[in-house]
Amino acid sequence: MKITNHQQLPEPLYQAIVQQSQAHSVGKADISCTQLIDAPLIAWLWRNYGDSVEEDASVYPVGGTASHRLWALYGSLAHKILEAYQGDGLHVETEAITEVDGFRVSGHLDLLVFPDGTIQDYKFTSAWTVAAAKKDGKIEWERQLNVYRFLLQHDPSLNFAAVRHLQIVAMLRDYGPRHVSEGLKPVEVLDVPLWEDEQVETYIKERVRLHQAAMGKEIPPQCTPEERWANKKGEDKRCDSYCAFGKQQLCPYRE
Ligand code: SF4
Repeated sequence: MKITNHQQLPEPLYQAIVQQSQAHSVGKADISCTQLIDAPLIAWLWRNYGDSVEEDASVYPVGGTASHRLWALYGSLAHKILEAYQGDGLHVETEAITEVDGFRVSGHLDLLVFPDGTIQDYKFTSAWTVAAAKKDGKIEWERQLNVYRFLLQHDPSLNFAAVRHLQIVAMLRDYGPRHVSEGLKPVEVLDVPLWEDEQVETYIKERVRLHQAAMGKEIPPQCTPEERWANKKGEDKRCDSYCAFGKQQLCPYRE
């Protein structure tokens, strides 16, 4: 992927985004945790058109307030804080790789690990997202943390103890006075359901199966409505405004 700087971000921010995007390649693994959870079509497009796709370092999506890449960069600040101030008896875990049905799955993590078996994932996110997650849960976080837990406990190089609690530490990037009346705090610690081992393994194996089926030249099925962020108006928000493959006419399902 070529990262452009049409919005003229200051050079250190731009360079950090470029380097961060390169550092998050899958390395020795076949697939990252993020790719595994996401659509097989998107992983296929990365393999086949990753070199030709372009994305600006600071795209402001329609209706959005800031770009994914800038927020991901700000997220790396949280990692630096964790490393510097993790506290006695706690540690930060950064990478795990595990093989599932012949596929090496990797996770690049910023997890704070407690001796009692709690792991916390720190995220910058919006007050709206946190309010919705407190009310209804958030399946994306649930999948991500349970897959991370599986990778940590099955990576033979880590010898990881049993995980008993999963938590998201959500730092509300747009927190302000109006959120006080909504009962929100500037930083919310949210419990995430811990799946049974069998449920995690079944989920990962099914995702591996779908991605393995998309490894050849044949075009995989279209992303699901959930993966396209389809709304009630029939709009595919991700295809229209966020997905670089959709916007650059590289997705075979876009006209
Ligand atoms: S444009 Fe839409 S359907 Fe195509 S890869 Fe992107 S999200 Fe999936």
